[in-house]
Amino acid sequence: LVADDGAVRATVFAEMSALAARTGAINLGQGFPDVDGPAHVAEAAVAAIRAGRNQYPPGPGVPALRQAVAAHQGRHYGLDVDPETEVLVTVGATEALAAAVLALAGPGDEVVTLEPYYDSYAAVVAMAGATHVTVPLVRTDGAGYRLDAAAFRAAVGPRTRVVLLNTPHNPTGAVLDPAELEVVAAAAREHDVVVITDEVYEHLTYDDARHVPLATLPGMAERTLTVSSAGKTLSFTGWKVGWVTGPAALVDAVRAVKQYLTYVGSGPFQHAVADALTDDDGRTGAWMADLVASLERRRDLLCEGLVSAGFDVVVPQGTYFVVADGRPLGFDDGAELCARLPELAGVVGVPVSAFCRAGTPAAEEFRSAVRFTFVKQEDVLVEGVRRLGGMR
Ligand code: PMP
Ligand code: GLN
Repeated sequence: LVADDGAVRATVFAEMSALAARTGAINLGQGFPDVDGPAHVAEAAVAAIRAGRNQYPPGPGVPALRQAVAAHQGRHYGLDVDPETEVLVTVGATEALAAAVLALAGPGDEVVTLEPYYDSYAAVVAMAGATHVTVPLVRTDGAGYRLDAAAFRAAVGPRTRVVLLNTPHNPTGAVLDPAELEVVAAAAREHDVVVITDEVYEHLTYDDARHVPLATLPGMAERTLTVSSAGKTLSFTGWKVGWVTGPAALVDAVRAVKQYLTYVGSGPFQHAVADALTDDDGRTGAWMADLVASLERRRDLLCEGLVSAGFDVVVPQGTYFVVADGRPLGFDDGAELCARLPELAGVVGVPVSAFCRAGTPAAEEFRSAVRFTFVKQEDVLVEGVRRLGGMR
């Protein structure tokens, strides 16, 4: 049974949100905003329902959303995407990633990811019957977590079918820079590998970090499937509207699998997201700019609070997560610390070990690490850090 594989089990997010609900602790574990996205975008979904757009949308997604996604890739990154053949709308990024891995990899194939990795990666690689190979991110002095170029080159070889990349990176908040992306691109070109890149946090970067899509590097558009989602950008995680763009033949292969996973995604939300993406230099864009500015402030608030509480913190350049090490407080096991945090401080976090495979160098490196989210209202974060401050 694939469910016997350690990678396919109850997700850590369900477990930790249940712990928060049970104990009444402040949930800084699962990453979802405690304030909804823009009201005018929500109204657009209501309008789509009232307008009777309630039957199955087209398999690849509603044309307006495919056009909006293609235009977004052009406007922000200079990528030339054909909305007819090179865009597939999916049920969140999660389905895009699953369908892409199932479409491209099977028994005997290796799928390379960074480690720590978003938890669904290990699960879908196991479901595909492929082998998961990981490359640890390494902590540097002053530059946060970075790609280990030599380890990455060594991990990609003749058995590699897919590299599944994630930048901005959950959980470390690292935003890969052009030199790191070139290491990935060079290995992919050399070994004729397809790269699936999970860019759901593309717009959530801070300070002077900027997201660069891998598909913009030389020779990469033809071998890259780029995945994103409205969940993070628009703060509507519950709508589950995602998409994948890339060369027609690869997108076709993903669509073939997607048909048998969910057939299509929810129609009214696709119409609303289409309006919002088209307007990302208008009212929706202004809302997004406010979100990023406010997340940057909330990042600083949480990081400073965690440092004052005694954690060793690596300040993230992107996403809405921060990794904090509990060792200075005397905890060298993050999973144990997370299990006790509700009782010790009335707060919930997620152990970074849930994003690692037991026994790997990364699992050892991140053993004492806890991931906290800052996509919560400022007063919630203030109270959270006040409570954590009482731990020592
Ligand atoms: N990839 C990463 C790195 C994530 O953090 C998440 C979580 N939200 C997803 C994919 C899933 O996105 P969605 O909710 O759109 O399925
Ligand atoms: N991506 C979010 C996180 O990392 C949650 C998504 C989920 O619960 N599956 O916390």
